[in-house]
Amino acid sequence: MMSKEEREEKRIAKLAEKEEKRNLKIYEKYMEQALKEAKKAYDINEVPIGCVIVQDDKIIARGYNRRNTDKSVLAHAEIAAISEACKKTGDWRLEDCTLYVTLEPCQMCAGAIVQARIPKVVVGAMNPKAGCAGSIINILNMQQFNHQCEVETGIMKEKCTEMMTKFFEELREQKNQIM
Ligand SMILES: [Zn+2]
Repeated sequence: MMSKEEREEKRIAKLAEKEEKRNLKIYEKYMEQALKEAKKAYDINEVPIGCVIVQDDKIIARGYNRRNTDKSVLAHAEIAAISEACKKTGDWRLEDCTLYVTLEPCQMCAGAIVQARIPKVVVGAMNPKAGCAGSIINILNMQQFNHQCEVETGIMKEKCTEMMTKFFEELREQKNQIM
């Protein structure tokens, strides 16, 4: 026979599991939208990275990488989405928003996320060579700064990675054809 405490523990564990499943569904729903943004970058020959910002269960801003197209180092998906979200909300603080991005943010974007005080970031694939949400450093979660984000990683990472891999494979093929 289970004791009362054991039963209670089991009940709480079950609730937590349910909550986790529900969260995962929400994460995947919005990551799917971030992937749609990444596809826009892919279609114009840019490294396919996409981002959406969600507030009150609604997408308020979208962005995708346009670095080559705009000839700007600032034209990352996250910066574009943050700019749009600030315009929409009329505030530089995005304190009740969640940012979804298909690839782990770089140092610039992670910095902007902290500056905008975004409380939660959901990441698709990690970027071992340049990522600043845990790979190289974790700018999103440094106790020395006045703001830390909750970070969720690996959401739909296969799909996020697949698009990147395909892009770089095609780029290599194009280069080989030119040479
Ligand atoms: Zn960036």
